[in-house]
Amino acid sequence: MESRPSKFFDICVNHAIANPGVGRAKIAAIVAIGNKIVSIGQNSRRTHPFAKRYQKICGAECLHAEIDAIVRALRVVDAKELSKASIYVARVKHPNSHDSGWVTGLAKPCAGCLSAIDKYKLKTVLWTNDGFKLTNKDQLNGYGYSFSIRQDA
Ligand SMILES: [Zn+2]
Repeated sequence: MESRPSKFFDICVNHAIANPGVGRAKIAAIVAIGNKIVSIGQNSRRTHPFAKRYQKICGAECLHAEIDAIVRALRVVDAKELSKASIYVARVKHPNSHDSGWVTGLAKPCAGCLSAIDKYKLKTVLWTNDGFKLTNKDQLNGYGYSFSIRQDA
C-alpha cells in the first residue's frame, strides 16, 4: 500500500465533491501505482460496455466510479501493471438537508466493482467510511477509511 493514502483520498474527495454524480451519489475513484496516480474515475449516467459486463452482477444502471477509473487506467497501463495498483474510492454527501457542508459516505465497492477489481488483481482497495466531516482547508484531518488487501498478491 502507498505510504500516504491520505494524499490520494484528499484528491479523490475533491473530485467527488466536483462530480455532479447521479442523484445524491457523488463518488470518485483513483487508481494509483506507488506514489503515482494512473487514473481518476467518477460515477455518472454514462454507459460503457466494460461497465455493463460487471454491473450485471449488482444490477447497477449507471457507470460506477471504480469501473470508470479502471477503464481509464487500462488506456495508460496494461493489465500486468494494473495488478500493482491500489484503488481509492471516496463518497461525499451533505450531512443533512440543512447543512451545505460535506461529510464522507460509505464507499465500499459493490459486488460488480469488486469483481472487476478482482479480475485485474488490484492489490489494495480503500474506501471512505460514513460520516467523517470534511473541511475545505484540511481534509486530511476530517475522515476515516477502511481497506482490504489481496491475500494472494
Ligand atoms: Zn460498483
